[in-house]
Amino acid sequence: MADNPMLKFVTVDRDMPEKRPPNLRRQDFGEIYGEYAREKAAEQASRCSQCGVPYCQSHCPLHNNIPDRLLLTAEGRLQEAYDLSQATNTFPEICGRICPQDRLCEGNCVIEQSGHGTVTIGSVEKYLTDTAFEEGWVKPIRPAAERSESVGIIGAGPGGLAAADRLRRAGVQVTVYDRYDRAGGLMTYGIPGFKLEKPVVMQRIAQLEDGGVEFVLDCNVGTDLSFDAIRGKHDAVVIATGVYKSRELQAPGVGADGIVRAIDYLTASNRKGLGDDVAEFDSGELDAEGKRVVVIGGGDTAMDCVRTAIRQGAESVKCLYRRDRENMPGSQREVANAEEEGVKFVWLSAPKGFVGDEVEAVKVQQMRLGAPDATGRRTPEVVEGADFDEPADLVIKALGFEPEDLPKLWGVDGLEVTRWGTVKADFRTHATSLEGVYAVGDIVRGASLVVWAIRDGREAADAILEYLSGAAKVAAE
Ligand SMILES: Cc1cc2nc3c(=O)[nH]c(=O)nc-3n(C[C@H](O)[C@H](O)[C@H](O)COP(=O)(O)OP(=O)(O)OC[C@H]3O[C@@H](n4cnc5c(N)ncnc54)[C@H](O)[C@@H]3O)c2cc1C
Ligand code: SF4
Repeated sequence: MADNPMLKFVTVDRDMPEKRPPNLRRQDFGEIYGEYAREKAAEQASRCSQCGVPYCQSHCPLHNNIPDRLLLTAEGRLQEAYDLSQATNTFPEICGRICPQDRLCEGNCVIEQSGHGTVTIGSVEKYLTDTAFEEGWVKPIRPAAERSESVGIIGAGPGGLAAADRLRRAGVQVTVYDRYDRAGGLMTYGIPGFKLEKPVVMQRIAQLEDGGVEFVLDCNVGTDLSFDAIRGKHDAVVIATGVYKSRELQAPGVGADGIVRAIDYLTASNRKGLGDDVAEFDSGELDAEGKRVVVIGGGDTAMDCVRTAIRQGAESVKCLYRRDRENMPGSQREVANAEEEGVKFVWLSAPKGFVGDEVEAVKVQQMRLGAPDATGRRTPEVVEGADFDEPADLVIKALGFEPEDLPKLWGVDGLEVTRWGTVKADFRTHATSLEGVYAVGDIVRGASLVVWAIRDGREAADAILEYLSGAAKVAAE
């Protein structure tokens, strides 16, 4: 594995926070790198009351058997706990790190709901899998028998990789195509390294490669290779391309220099952390160091941008969001983390325009919450006469993502999409309108979570195995 080019960057620069100027509060930024010692894992696990109504499990998209996993951990039976953990989750060490547990398993822990603080389910899951890797309990992918059928997977994010893992274990020949130079999708280039260390992602990719999954990188399907060519080459195809079209702002001056898209900003930062030469970062265009940074948006991507800017040594970091704290879509845990690190939130504020050819300020409109809309969410309304200018040298637009128009990009008429542009797929089998073509993850759900993409990938793989067996039976008749 040491010679694997995919692991060339294991020397991730974890010391980036040292660039932070002294005006921001000194913090220990090593939060996720901190060791979760055996004693602490056991102590947390033993706090589980084995309540018998495991809401944690039912609110985990993978329905992980959390109570039994915690019981085994509390008893020191770590390998058994790990075995249970990986039985339902392809990448437990990744989910343990980056699931928004406060909205999923931990938010529904009965101990949390009785006001005593949740059992830290995610940290225990991470600890178990990290230990399993260290102890050699993670088994390589070695199918009992090879099958002749092949599956082409477009997109090497968590959805595509979860499908690849399950299919390969069943002996299917798997090829994963991705337009990036590294696999991992948003786990590699979107989610910042301080939340998800890149070697953790790369060790899984190396495991898949070692198990016989073929990766065809730098291959943009639709440009470098047609969708029809992939379909013609494989017995089944999985579309796992995610959503990458950034929602744009319409406001005067939005084209000024220094106003950038969140995905470009985060990708540059991740590439830099991986040791790549990144011209836009080195020129300062996508580097927040020494700048007054304003991030526009209230979702998890906005939280990643503000926390990255702090780590890059921004002079100040502000987040503008048009609703209030209670009504923001991002994780409250992330907001609390960002605030602790020195980020200022300007609630009930929306951009009206921008000052300068090279941005100098955001023209901000103050908002208030009006009557609820059809979804029950209160609509933001402008407070007249309360505009103000927010000085800024770097503005990051984090307004969410939409799907690309795949039927048009790929020239496939028969691929049905919803009115939002996401690919239509059966919610259980993930089969699309095209025979033998399946779709998983964000391209079906819209911007979602890693854990949901994993679930889709696993389910699609199971459906494909059934489909391939059926096709083989028909061929034999
Ligand atoms: C900044 C950010 C932070 C996030 N943080 C979290 C978090 O903390 N926790 C969490 O659970 N979720 C988080 N998410 C969401 C999560 O990353 C996604 O829901 C998840 O990655 C979706 O997985 P996917 O496999 O569907 O797509 P992706 O991970 O987007 O992978 C899709 C892959 O398809 C490739 N691709 C696309 N088009 C083509 C093409 N034409 N040809 C070849 N390849 C193609 C792309 O290069 C990419 O590698 C975050 C998202 C963002 C943007
Ligand atoms: S996969 Fe995510 S939601 Fe499920 S138990 Fe693990 S951390 Fe919680």
